Amino acid sequence: MKKITITKSAGFCFGVLRALRLAQQTAKSRKNIYMLGDIVHNPRVVSDIKKIGIKKITKLKTQGNGVLLIRAHGAQKSVYDQAKKLGYKIIDATCPMVKEIHSIAKRYEEQNYTIIIIGDKKHDEVIGIKGNLKNKPIVLSNKKEIKRLQLSHIKKAAVVVQSTQNQEKVKDIVAELKKQIKKLIFRNTICQPTRLKQKEIQQLPSTQDIMIIIGAKSSANTKRLYELSKKINPNTYWVNSKSEIKKCWFKDKIKVGIGAGASTPDYIIKEIESFIKNRV
Ligand code: SF4
Repeated sequence: MKKITITKSAGFCFGVLRALRLAQQTAKSRKNIYMLGDIVHNPRVVSDIKKIGIKKITKLKTQGNGVLLIRAHGAQKSVYDQAKKLGYKIIDATCPMVKEIHSIAKRYEEQNYTIIIIGDKKHDEVIGIKGNLKNKPIVLSNKKEIKRLQLSHIKKAAVVVQSTQNQEKVKDIVAELKKQIKKLIFRNTICQPTRLKQKEIQQLPSTQDIMIIIGAKSSANTKRLYELSKKINPNTYWVNSKSEIKKCWFKDKIKVGIGAGASTPDYIIKEIESFIKNRV
């Protein structure tokens, strides 16, 4: 019999829950609702959302005449501007914590600070933060890039962080930046749910025989949890459904730890828990 421990913070964060509630409420009262890209990074959640009548689009249609749902990770200013121009009604499901990052970055930009974003260049959230600024910020995803970019000419800079970044990695990058830029303001904008998830994943894996991290491969925060757990416990596996689980992973393993990203619904965690309990 396996002994399963699930982290307290596993699954939806409040920002994702809020976005999904907004989507559900909107679907009850409106027609022609569109989401630009995935509302959250989980294919099953996106498919649930489509079932209630919300259509996924990759670019805005030339004739608005509908509702545009802005996803939890936010969007750049040009998306809002274009949607308004085309006649969409905007329902903004951007997480308040992401909005806070936008306003911090804008505030420092107004005070003539160079803005540095620590995050994944291609992630929607980073694109949104960038796209709400007047000038092009510097985006750093690792320490090596600092040496390559040679930033010592910058007089003053303010650093914000993508909400789901790894705390330790960010500390390292900021320490390196401090060596090059004299006046550096660091605003650690990693959100509370991410901090809690990372804290739990730094504790649980060392006490377990095997760790299962649940979340879509497109989920940046799940990737971070997987990396943290794998470093501590090499028997860490990343799955998004019970069909990806291999029984051989569990041979001679009793204690099973489970963590899950912020866009993983409870029902997937429960399906996997029950599969491990009854089938491996
Ligand atoms: S991970 Fe953090 S910033 Fe992103 S939606 Fe959840 S609470 Fe908001």
